Amino acid sequence: MEVIYNCWHGCHKKSEGCLNCYVFRRDESIGKDTNIVTKTASFALPVRRKRDGSYKYPSGTLFMMCFSSDFFLEEADEWRKDVLSYIRERSDCRFYCITKRPERIKLIDVREYPNLTICCTCENQKRLNERMPYYLPLELYRKEIILEPMLEEMDLAPYINDLDAVSLGGESGDNARPLNFDWVRKIAGQCRKAGIPFHFHQTGANLIKDGKLYRIPRNLQHSQAAKAMKLLR
Ligand code: SF4
Repeated sequence: MEVIYNCWHGCHKKSEGCLNCYVFRRDESIGKDTNIVTKTASFALPVRRKRDGSYKYPSGTLFMMCFSSDFFLEEADEWRKDVLSYIRERSDCRFYCITKRPERIKLIDVREYPNLTICCTCENQKRLNERMPYYLPLELYRKEIILEPMLEEMDLAPYINDLDAVSLGGESGDNARPLNFDWVRKIAGQCRKAGIPFHFHQTGANLIKDGKLYRIPRNLQHSQAAKAMKLLR
Protein backbone atom coordinates (compact mmCIF):
# COMPACT_ATOMS: atom_id res chain seq x y z
CA MET A 1 0.00 0.00 0.00
CA GLU A 2 1.26 3.49 -0.91
CA VAL A 3 -0.02 6.54 0.96
CA ILE A 4 0.66 10.27 0.52
CA TYR A 5 1.78 11.67 3.87
CA ASN A 6 1.87 15.46 3.95
CA CYS A 7 2.81 16.16 7.56
CA TRP A 8 3.06 19.90 6.94
CA HIS A 9 2.04 22.23 4.17
CA GLY A 10 3.78 25.26 2.70
CA CYS A 11 7.24 26.04 1.43
CA HIS A 12 9.60 28.75 0.18
CA LYS A 13 10.98 28.91 -3.33
CA LYS A 14 14.60 27.83 -3.12
CA SER A 15 16.00 27.61 -6.64
CA GLU A 16 15.25 27.59 -10.38
CA GLY A 17 13.22 24.37 -10.20
CA CYS A 18 10.74 26.05 -7.85
CA LEU A 19 9.69 28.73 -10.36
CA ASN A 20 6.44 27.02 -11.37
CA CYS A 21 6.00 24.93 -8.19
CA TYR A 22 2.60 23.21 -8.27
CA VAL A 23 2.08 23.78 -4.54
CA PHE A 24 2.25 27.55 -5.08
CA ARG A 25 0.04 27.29 -8.18
CA ARG A 26 -2.61 25.25 -6.42
CA ASP A 27 -2.60 27.43 -3.29
CA GLU A 28 -2.80 30.61 -5.36
CA SER A 29 -5.95 29.31 -7.05
CA ILE A 30 -7.67 29.15 -3.65
CA GLY A 31 -6.13 32.35 -2.23
CA LYS A 32 -3.77 30.57 0.16
CA ASP A 33 -0.27 31.85 1.04
CA THR A 34 2.16 28.94 0.47
CA ASN A 35 4.91 30.74 2.40
CA ILE A 36 3.00 30.15 5.63
CA VAL A 37 4.04 26.67 6.77
CA THR A 38 1.55 24.79 8.93
CA LYS A 39 1.13 21.30 10.33
CA THR A 40 -1.62 19.36 8.60
CA ALA A 41 -4.45 17.26 9.95
CA SER A 42 -2.46 14.24 8.69
CA PHE A 43 0.50 15.02 10.96
CA ALA A 44 0.30 11.74 12.90
CA LEU A 45 -1.01 9.65 10.00
CA PRO A 46 1.48 6.75 10.25
CA VAL A 47 0.55 6.04 13.87
CA ARG A 48 -3.22 6.44 13.53
CA ARG A 49 -5.10 3.51 14.99
CA LYS A 50 -8.37 1.78 14.33
CA ARG A 51 -11.01 1.19 16.99
CA ASP A 52 -9.55 -2.22 17.73
CA GLY A 53 -6.20 -0.58 18.56
CA SER A 54 -4.31 -1.80 15.50
CA TYR A 55 -2.60 0.62 13.16
CA LYS A 56 -4.81 2.07 10.44
CA TYR A 57 -2.03 1.56 7.87
CA PRO A 58 -0.71 -2.00 7.74
CA SER A 59 2.79 -3.25 7.97
CA GLY A 60 4.63 -2.68 4.67
CA THR A 61 2.88 0.62 3.84
CA LEU A 62 5.00 3.07 1.87
CA PHE A 63 4.45 6.64 3.09
CA MET A 64 5.30 9.17 0.35
CA MET A 65 6.12 12.28 2.36
CA CYS A 66 5.94 16.03 1.93
CA PHE A 67 4.43 16.50 -1.50
CA SER A 68 3.24 19.96 -0.49
CA SER A 69 6.38 21.07 1.35
CA ASP A 70 9.99 20.08 2.05
CA PHE A 71 10.81 17.78 4.97
CA PHE A 72 13.84 19.90 5.88
CA LEU A 73 12.26 23.35 6.13
CA GLU A 74 13.46 25.39 9.11
CA GLU A 75 9.92 26.03 10.34
CA ALA A 76 9.51 22.28 10.77
CA ASP A 77 12.62 21.68 12.89
CA GLU A 78 10.59 21.03 16.06
CA TRP A 79 7.76 19.15 14.31
CA ARG A 80 10.27 16.90 12.52
CA LYS A 81 11.24 15.33 15.86
CA ASP A 82 7.70 13.95 16.26
CA VAL A 83 7.57 12.70 12.68
CA LEU A 84 10.92 10.96 13.15
CA SER A 85 9.52 9.26 16.25
CA TYR A 86 6.62 7.97 14.09
CA ILE A 87 9.12 6.71 11.52
CA ARG A 88 11.00 4.90 14.25
CA GLU A 89 7.77 3.50 15.73
CA ARG A 90 6.65 2.27 12.29
CA SER A 91 9.85 0.41 11.52
CA ASP A 92 7.56 -2.08 9.71
CA CYS A 93 6.77 0.59 7.08
CA ARG A 94 8.82 2.57 4.60
CA PHE A 95 9.03 6.36 4.28
CA TYR A 96 10.20 8.32 1.25
CA CYS A 97 10.89 12.03 0.91
CA ILE A 98 12.51 14.35 -1.61
CA THR A 99 14.42 17.49 -0.64
CA LYS A 100 16.06 20.48 -2.24
CA ARG A 101 17.76 21.18 1.08
CA PRO A 102 20.41 18.44 1.51
CA GLU A 103 22.54 20.84 3.57
CA ARG A 104 19.97 20.37 6.36
CA ILE A 105 19.79 16.56 6.33
CA LYS A 106 22.71 16.49 8.77
CA LEU A 107 20.31 17.76 11.45
CA ILE A 108 19.14 14.18 11.85
CA ASP A 109 21.12 11.02 12.45
CA VAL A 110 20.20 9.21 9.26
CA ARG A 111 21.62 5.88 10.48
CA GLU A 112 18.78 5.72 13.00
CA TYR A 113 16.16 5.50 10.23
CA PRO A 114 16.87 2.62 7.85
CA ASN A 115 13.22 2.73 6.71
CA LEU A 116 13.50 6.37 5.57
CA THR A 117 14.76 7.12 2.04
CA ILE A 118 15.80 10.73 1.50
CA CYS A 119 16.25 11.70 -2.14
CA CYS A 120 17.86 14.89 -3.35
CA THR A 121 16.38 16.74 -6.28
CA CYS A 122 18.47 18.85 -8.68
CA GLU A 123 17.14 20.73 -11.68
CA ASN A 124 20.33 21.94 -13.37
CA GLN A 125 24.10 21.47 -13.25
CA LYS A 126 24.63 24.40 -10.88
CA ARG A 127 22.28 22.89 -8.26
CA LEU A 128 23.68 19.39 -8.78
CA ASN A 129 27.21 20.67 -8.16
CA GLU A 130 26.02 22.66 -5.16
CA ARG A 131 23.93 19.90 -3.53
CA MET A 132 26.01 16.75 -4.11
CA PRO A 133 28.84 17.81 -1.77
CA TYR A 134 26.22 17.92 1.02
CA TYR A 135 24.28 14.83 -0.03
CA LEU A 136 26.88 12.27 -1.02
CA PRO A 137 28.98 12.24 2.18
CA LEU A 138 25.91 11.47 4.32
CA GLU A 139 25.63 7.97 5.80
CA LEU A 140 22.35 7.30 4.04
CA TYR A 141 21.33 3.70 3.42
CA ARG A 142 20.35 4.68 -0.10
CA LYS A 143 21.36 7.66 -2.27
CA GLU A 144 18.92 8.58 -4.95
CA ILE A 145 18.70 11.74 -7.00
CA ILE A 146 15.80 13.13 -8.95
CA LEU A 147 16.50 15.45 -11.87
CA GLU A 148 13.18 17.22 -12.00
CA PRO A 149 12.12 19.46 -13.51
CA MET A 150 15.22 18.92 -15.63
CA LEU A 151 15.96 22.34 -17.11
CA GLU A 152 19.14 21.81 -19.10
CA GLU A 153 21.63 19.21 -20.25
CA MET A 154 23.41 17.80 -17.21
CA ASP A 155 26.47 15.67 -16.54
CA LEU A 156 26.35 13.09 -13.74
CA ALA A 157 29.86 11.76 -14.36
CA PRO A 158 31.49 13.26 -11.23
CA TYR A 159 28.85 11.74 -8.93
CA ILE A 160 27.40 8.69 -10.58
CA ASN A 161 29.50 6.06 -8.84
CA ASP A 162 28.21 7.23 -5.45
CA LEU A 163 24.54 6.95 -6.39
CA ASP A 164 22.09 4.05 -6.02
CA ALA A 165 19.44 5.32 -8.45
CA VAL A 166 18.56 8.24 -10.70
CA SER A 167 15.17 9.35 -11.90
CA LEU A 168 14.21 12.18 -14.17
CA GLY A 169 11.17 14.17 -15.19
CA GLY A 170 9.99 17.28 -16.97
CA GLU A 171 7.90 20.18 -15.76
CA SER A 172 4.12 20.25 -15.78
CA GLY A 173 1.70 23.18 -16.03
CA ASP A 174 0.82 25.86 -18.57
CA ASN A 175 4.20 27.61 -18.35
CA ALA A 176 6.29 24.45 -18.27
CA ARG A 177 9.86 24.78 -19.47
CA PRO A 178 10.66 22.15 -22.11
CA LEU A 179 12.57 18.95 -21.55
CA ASN A 180 14.84 17.86 -24.39
CA PHE A 181 14.86 14.10 -24.94
CA ASP A 182 18.57 14.29 -25.84
CA TRP A 183 19.27 15.29 -22.22
CA VAL A 184 17.28 12.25 -21.04
CA ARG A 185 19.23 9.97 -23.42
CA LYS A 186 22.52 11.26 -22.05
CA ILE A 187 21.60 10.63 -18.40
CA ALA A 188 20.13 7.21 -19.24
CA GLY A 189 23.38 6.33 -21.02
CA GLN A 190 25.53 7.46 -18.10
CA CYS A 191 23.44 5.35 -15.71
CA ARG A 192 23.56 2.30 -18.00
CA LYS A 193 27.33 2.57 -18.25
CA ALA A 194 27.67 2.82 -14.47
CA GLY A 195 25.14 0.00 -13.86
CA ILE A 196 22.77 2.25 -11.92
CA PRO A 197 18.97 2.00 -12.14
CA PHE A 198 17.46 4.84 -14.15
CA HIS A 199 13.81 5.79 -14.37
CA PHE A 200 12.27 8.38 -16.70
CA HIS A 201 9.02 8.86 -14.84
CA GLN A 202 7.27 11.68 -16.66
CA THR A 203 7.81 13.80 -19.76
CA GLY A 204 6.45 17.08 -18.43
CA ALA A 205 4.11 19.22 -20.54
CA ASN A 206 6.62 20.20 -23.25
CA LEU A 207 8.99 17.64 -24.70
CA ILE A 208 11.51 18.31 -27.47
CA LYS A 209 12.35 15.20 -29.46
CA ASP A 210 14.52 15.25 -32.59
CA GLY A 211 14.24 19.05 -32.69
CA LYS A 212 10.44 19.09 -32.56
CA LEU A 213 8.40 20.39 -29.61
CA TYR A 214 5.54 18.18 -28.46
CA ARG A 215 2.82 19.33 -26.06
CA ILE A 216 1.99 16.36 -23.84
CA PRO A 217 -1.37 16.38 -22.01
CA ARG A 218 -1.17 15.87 -18.27
CA ASN A 219 -2.84 12.45 -18.37
CA LEU A 220 -0.23 11.12 -20.83
CA GLN A 221 2.97 12.44 -19.26
CA HIS A 222 3.66 9.27 -17.27
CA SER A 223 2.63 6.78 -19.94
CA GLN A 224 4.65 8.58 -22.64
CA ALA A 225 7.72 8.46 -20.42
CA ALA A 226 7.12 4.73 -19.82
CA LYS A 227 7.04 4.18 -23.59
CA ALA A 228 10.20 6.26 -24.02
CA MET A 229 11.97 4.09 -21.42
CA LYS A 230 11.94 1.31 -24.02
CA LEU A 231 14.01 3.52 -26.35
CA LEU A 232 16.48 4.19 -23.55
CA ARG A 233 17.46 0.58 -22.81
S1 SF4 B 1 11.21 23.07 -2.62
FE1 SF4 B 1 9.61 21.89 -3.67
S2 SF4 B 1 7.70 22.39 -2.61
FE2 SF4 B 1 9.22 23.92 -2.03
S3 SF4 B 1 8.88 25.63 -3.46
FE3 SF4 B 1 10.48 24.33 -4.32
S4 SF4 B 1 9.41 22.90 -5.68
FE4 SF4 B 1 7.87 23.82 -4.31
